[in-house]
Amino acid sequence: MDAVEVLQTVFGHREFRGPQRQIIERVLRGGHSLVIMPTGMGKSLCYQIPALILADRNSEGGAKESPLPSLTLVISPLIALMKDQVDSLVQRGVSATFVNSSLRRKERELRYSSIANGQYDILYVTPERFRKSEFQEVIGRRRVGLLAVDEAHCISEWGHDFRPDYTRLIEIRRLLGSPTAIALTATATPEVQEDIISQLGLTESDVELFHEGIDRPNLELDVVETWGDEEKLAQIVEVVQQDQGSGIVYFTLIKTLLRFSELLDETGVPHVIYHGDLDRVTRKRVQEEFMQEEECLVLATNAFGMGIDKEAIRFVIHADLPDSMESYYQEIGRAGRDGLPSTCRLLYDERDLATQMEFLRWSNPDAEYYERVFDFLTHDAESIVAFGLEWLREKLHYREKHDHRLETALAMLDRYGVIEGSLAPLDVTVVSELPEQLRDQSRLDEKLLRDQKKLYALVQYAKCAGNRKAFIHEYFGLPVPQS
Ligand code: ADP
Ligand code: MG
Repeated sequence: MDAVEVLQTVFGHREFRGPQRQIIERVLRGGHSLVIMPTGMGKSLCYQIPALILADRNSEGGAKESPLPSLTLVISPLIALMKDQVDSLVQRGVSATFVNSSLRRKERELRYSSIANGQYDILYVTPERFRKSEFQEVIGRRRVGLLAVDEAHCISEWGHDFRPDYTRLIEIRRLLGSPTAIALTATATPEVQEDIISQLGLTESDVELFHEGIDRPNLELDVVETWGDEEKLAQIVEVVQQDQGSGIVYFTLIKTLLRFSELLDETGVPHVIYHGDLDRVTRKRVQEEFMQEEECLVLATNAFGMGIDKEAIRFVIHADLPDSMESYYQEIGRAGRDGLPSTCRLLYDERDLATQMEFLRWSNPDAEYYERVFDFLTHDAESIVAFGLEWLREKLHYREKHDHRLETALAMLDRYGVIEGSLAPLDVTVVSELPEQLRDQSRLDEKLLRDQKKLYALVQYAKCAGNRKAFIHEYFGLPVPQS
């Protein structure tokens, strides 16, 4: 079967989107690739289709000495999404599975033995899986023809979602016999791209970069400076009435989103809302409504996006300043996928900068804070289990209830393997010392500074009078578009 046939018969899509075909062809030729494409554009097919073709070639050859190996290993940090992805593959008749910490021992062992016996064409795991020698042994029995690294920005310490285990990829890839690699992410600056390539044990000349930037003539990018809610509201109403069709208005804070929802109700503008405090069922319903309705306005936080692949999105408005150029690029990338004229408007109120600065503080606790959290976890484990997260927060900083440093610190301790157990409800055991990375203040300062620069780039974008697309391309190190 060739790639188009697989696309149509297995996945039920008529044609390839954007650079999908070129990427798949490159992978099948054994070339390494770095794919940067906004969420919802279809990165998964870039390794899923080659996976099936590789497995197929292998079985057709029949011979043991067939040069083409058959298992595609997908490294992904998102345990919550693995099951959904595998379920939808299985529904299409694809032989895929995952192994992660959500499986009970029995089930895990069952899957291990099936994998070792040659079952499955696609296997999803987290990078942490390679900490287990049992898994290394199992995977050693298979020939891995393709290594796909999803959410590849997690490799980079300078990316927004660093996972320490992703830095072991160089070792992991070697262990697998240095197969063809494809790394995928929604955004990556040149710096992060470099990290990704070197963490795969490759050099720039080995890897083809697929990054479309924002060179899309149908998108109109603009910024409007506003002062206060009323001006923002007027802007939103104006775009909704002018552009018609479906659109997204992004907010940073849920409470601002709810306030604007009320204002729009009073103005008589129908809309739905989507944010992280809604339960799963409601979120799913809103998402489906947005996907199906021809004309649907959604007010959303950045939680909205994953799994949104609606092509006819006429406008994306940012009612608040996002946290970085990376986030902004990725969110406006959802507009106008059908090629029709679409508006991307950023409403810039200087005072919103303060909110983002506060967020940056929360997501960058200092060394002393890490140490205090570590001490509590070590010495007051029983009280923490009994009284929970809020008790601990109160102990750490009783004045600021909305301070999220504790969540950040716990997540980092978990990622570095300092603690094990459940984060919600909080019930963890300290299993190792604080790593140097969380004790070295100058390193933590550097991280905060980089985060601030990403935010500052967006402020510069808001203030830039020239070609906005060119600005974004320069930021991502891409050739500057002419128009
Ligand atoms: P990403 O990983 O880039 O966020 P996904 O791979 O999850 O995106 O794909 C998002 C959606 O796009 C999926 O529902 C998928 O079925 C759909 N999709 C992917 N490629 C195509 C295509 N060529 N034509 C139509 N839909 C596609
Ligand atoms: Mg994806």
